[in-house]
This record gives sequence, C-alpha cells and structure tokens, in this order.
Amino acid sequence: MTIRLFDKDSHMREFDAAVCSCEPGKNGTYLVTLDRTAFFPEAGGQPADTGVLGAAHVLDAHERGGEIVHTVDAPLTPGETVHGALDWEPRLRRMQNHSGEHIVSGLIYRDYGFANVGFHIGSRDVTLDFDGVIEREELRRIEYLANVAVAENVAVTAEYPAPETLATLHYRSKLDLTENVRIVTIAGYDCCACCAPHVKRTGEIGMIKLLDYIHYKGGIRIHMQCGLDAVDDFNEKYDNVAQIAASLSVKQCDAAAAVARLSDAMAAQKQTIAELKRELVRAKLALVAPSEAGLLLFEPSLDMDGLRALAEGASRVRGGVCAVFAGRDGAGYQYAAAAQGQEMRAFAKELNTALAGRGGGSAALIQGSAAAGAEAIRTFFRAHGADI
Ligand SMILES: [Zn+2]
Repeated sequence: MTIRLFDKDSHMREFDAAVCSCEPGKNGTYLVTLDRTAFFPEAGGQPADTGVLGAAHVLDAHERGGEIVHTVDAPLTPGETVHGALDWEPRLRRMQNHSGEHIVSGLIYRDYGFANVGFHIGSRDVTLDFDGVIEREELRRIEYLANVAVAENVAVTAEYPAPETLATLHYRSKLDLTENVRIVTIAGYDCCACCAPHVKRTGEIGMIKLLDYIHYKGGIRIHMQCGLDAVDDFNEKYDNVAQIAASLSVKQCDAAAAVARLSDAMAAQKQTIAELKRELVRAKLALVAPSEAGLLLFEPSLDMDGLRALAEGASRVRGGVCAVFAGRDGAGYQYAAAAQGQEMRAFAKELNTALAGRGGGSAALIQGSAAAGAEAIRTFFRAHGADI
C-alpha cells in the first residue's frame, strides 16, 4: 500500500520517497510505484496530479489495488530515493473546484434533499449532477450561500473515523462503504465521504460561480467554476463584453440591450431590403418590351426569389427563354430562366452543360448556378436568339 501523503497534508508540494518498482508502460513510458507519494491518482471526478520524480516527468497517476502507480517518461531505479514535486497550480485549481463542489452539494442536500450523483473536473469547467430539479433563481441563492461559506473561511478537515463513530455520522456518500471511509468535513456546511485532497479553509477557494445548468437524466447538470478558474472565466467574459460595448459605443452594463436593439434594427432592415427587391423586380419588369425573342439580364443585387420573379414575369411578354443571372466572374452566378410553351427542363440540361452549371426545375421555370463567366453566358444566349 502506498502511503498517501496528500491524505494528511493536501498542501505538500514536494516530498522524498523510495522507489519500489519500475516497469515499462505504453509508448515509451514507465510505471513507477513508491513507498509514499503526494501525487493524487485520478479518482472521484478529479484528474491525476502531474509533476516530476527526480529527472522524470509524471504524466499520470492511477490507483491499482492500493498502490498508486505513476506514469513517468524516464526509468527510475528501485531502492533509490527520489525527490518528487507536484505541478502545484493545477492541483490548487482542482482543490478549489472540488472543495467548492462540496459546499454547493452540501447546501443543495441540506435545502432540497437532492444528492450529487456526478462530478467531473474537465479542461473547460466543472460539472455537478443532481438527482432533482432546482430553478435558476434558487441556484442563485445557493451560489450566494456558497460564497458566504467562503467568506466565513471555515475549516475543511479530513479523517478516517472508527467504524463505531462512522455509524453515528450523517454524511453524503456515493458508495455504500462501512470501513476505511475518509470523511471530509466543511464546518457547518457539509460532511461527505471523499478520497481527494481539499483546501484547508474555505477562504482558499475564492469565488464560487455557478455558470449555467441543463436538465439532465431527470435532474440537473450544473456547470461551475471556482477560484483561479473563475477569475480566468470572468476575464474571458469581461473581454467579450468590453469588445461588444466598445463596438456599439455603449456602457458595458448596457451591452445586452444594445445588441437587442441592433438585432431589431437588422430585422427591420431585412424587411425593407426584401420590399426594395420586390420593388426592383416590378420596375425591371415594367421595362421589358414585348417581343418574340428571348431575353438575358444580369441583376447582381437580386436573390433567387427576385431572379425567379423577374424571369417568370418577363416570360409572360416575351416569346423565347427569359433568363436572369446574378453574380460575378470567378465567384460564379445564380440563375433563373423561364419560358411559356417550352420544355425548360431540357433547356436546363443544355445550359448546365454549356455553362458549367447545376440546377433544374419545372417545365416552365428552372433555377441553379453556373461557373462560367459573363461572356460565355452572353454567347450561349445570343446563340439561342435572346436579346442581350
Ligand atoms: Zn469529493
């Protein structure tokens, strides 16, 4: 059994230990056991610590039958003493998040009776799953109370109570264990079975921020960040709001309202543009002179609806195929073409072949795109007797 130095002292950053074994692992790594370690192995939703053992980097640590196995990138010699050092800041951030989770879970259990049924410290944020639904305003209240617990700076302790003491304790637990149970207590807030290292006092946690929640498996999943992670998250969001406010020339506290106004204005403009396009089609149609010949038009500002309306309208006063193109050389063109009393699907095949196009439609109206340039388009329609 490896002595778990983090059990008694969660703030031990460096230690000396004897190498017990070293065997080759996967991909050029080595698996090392020590007589004692401060490296917490991945467990209970908290990732493994990283750091160094002598000259070797510790990439991972996991538990195997009571032993803590360190995955390292260089071999170590059994029997020798090695100096270990943790990557401290990642560990501190995990302890801030994990202790913050205990406070939030303890408060939710106390006030609603819901159990924490899932916990995961990810690379982006922390998730907490509960087996009941709590509304957003209530979560704000829990968040406030959790931050009060931080401000009170109460003690966080860990111990292995004797079985008879354990039997009298009321504590949260995901597993139904009866012996060798490690109880982490946050004075006045929570009592929970947990194997992970925690902060010594709640003041170390810093801000506890519940970010958002979703309904999940009949309960809720809360996204949360604590301490230094919460500061990073705040800065990222602050920078976003600052940029939005600056580009809209409003105060940051008015950014959301300004975005809503902008969105409304864009919707109104969209409507106006659609109306203007319909107006443009009507004006262009008024200029189409009756003739037995077909017609080719380029109307760069029209969308597909406009192209169709203009092609179809023109075909009512012209004898041949009436086609309207929008686009530019290099970027390609969109087109619509119509004719009365002519099978347009056959014409579409001919057009697509000649102008590197795609598309089709009904017997009276076709639409699609063409990669050919304006000059090739003009040549094609000139050959079909259209006025250009
Ligand atoms: Zn825990």
